[in-house]
Amino acid sequence: MVDFALTSEQTSLRDMARKFARTEMAPHAAECDRAGRFPEEIYRKAWELGLMNLNVPTEFGGTGLSLFDQCLIVEELSHACAGMTTSIIANCLALEPILLGGTEEQKHRILDPFCAEYHLASFCLTEPSGGSDAGSLKTRARRDGDHYVLDGEKCFITNAPFASLYTVFATGDPSLRHKGISAFVVPRDTEGVLPGKEEEKMGHRASATSTVRFEGAKVPVENRLGAEGEGFSIAMRTLDQTRTPIGALATGIAQAALDHAADYSKRRQTFGKPISEHQAIQIKLADMAQAVHAARLLTWQAAWTIDHGDRGSLESAIAKCFSSDAAMRVADEAIQVFGGYGYMKEYPVEKLLRDAKLAQIYEGSNEIQRIVIARELLQRYA
Ligand SMILES: Cc1cc2nc3c(=O)[nH]c(=O)nc-3n(C[C@H](O)[C@H](O)[C@H](O)COP(=O)(O)OP(=O)(O)OC[C@H]3O[C@@H](n4cnc5c(N)ncnc54)[C@H](O)[C@@H]3O)c2cc1C
Repeated sequence: MVDFALTSEQTSLRDMARKFARTEMAPHAAECDRAGRFPEEIYRKAWELGLMNLNVPTEFGGTGLSLFDQCLIVEELSHACAGMTTSIIANCLALEPILLGGTEEQKHRILDPFCAEYHLASFCLTEPSGGSDAGSLKTRARRDGDHYVLDGEKCFITNAPFASLYTVFATGDPSLRHKGISAFVVPRDTEGVLPGKEEEKMGHRASATSTVRFEGAKVPVENRLGAEGEGFSIAMRTLDQTRTPIGALATGIAQAALDHAADYSKRRQTFGKPISEHQAIQIKLADMAQAVHAARLLTWQAAWTIDHGDRGSLESAIAKCFSSDAAMRVADEAIQVFGGYGYMKEYPVEKLLRDAKLAQIYEGSNEIQRIVIARELLQRYA
């Protein structure tokens, strides 16, 4: 039987994340957004509470949560600040390739010391020449005896300036396209690993994003994940896992926008009564509530599907695409409910629109999600 009730453990987990989000993150969200500040002290506290490395099993030092439980946490964190949340969950994205492609020896060797202390890791797939067509990446991995030599550049890499570990996708032969790509774990202190300067971004400004250059970086063969040529599959299976929490992140933004708009509508008066008593505003709030509810349910269903052993490509693409589009619509309407004040940086809702936008772009743009959805769908009509 399908059961939408949370267990008492899930309720406690959600409440713990909510408390952390509202007491530790929310009070600093506007300041970090304005200054583009990377609040590492908050990320350290998140690690101490077990809110990082959520997907890493406890035997390797992580929190070892189901995808469903991860989504409960991510929605709460994102309600307070989506930018901080992007940085907090970036370790899940960067470490998933190790969980999917690594041997037991690699997992213990790499994850045990990484998870035992506060560390950040980055997932390095996207390149300046294109992110959507990952099969055409150009970073080279040339085998030389007992190591590989990496040369190339990655861009838009979350947490890259602060990370101590990178999971990197590189090709032995670009003409082989996706069949030539392998995955590597590259420590930051490797000679020839050069993170670039932080990008100035529209939103998610509490998160750091930069390029990473590899100039003759020597990576031991024992740091290759899976077989040569398996990297593309590892990257795609990683994104199948991590896309659903982006649905939760978008749901958190949308819920925050609805909360702000509903609260404001009861306090703002026009024509002698609160704007919440004007039917046009009620209809907006009702539409926003429907979008938030549907985003959450689609995200929960995708997480449930994957937790029950299905790859969930269709469900995770639907959850990510729908929820991020919904977050954009709901944040836009929240600004409308606030009127002119909504357009001012002094009020919280314009940030939500800027933050929602990224969820339509990263971890596979929504155009690519629609391609995945159509492909999965049409296969069922073969
Ligand atoms: C803040 C931020 C953080 C990020 N963090 C990371 C990270 O940690 N690691 C990482 O590897 N990457 C990261 N990315 C990269 C992100 O995943 C890519 O930006 C995204 O996949 C799109 O790639 P692109 O920017 O090169 O756009 P392009 O691939 O150049 O696409 C441009 C436009 O064309 C559309 N398009 C492309 N191909 C098709 C098609 N076949 N049909 C229809 N439309 C198409 C796209 O949807 C998009 O609208 C991040 C990006 C940002 C902005």
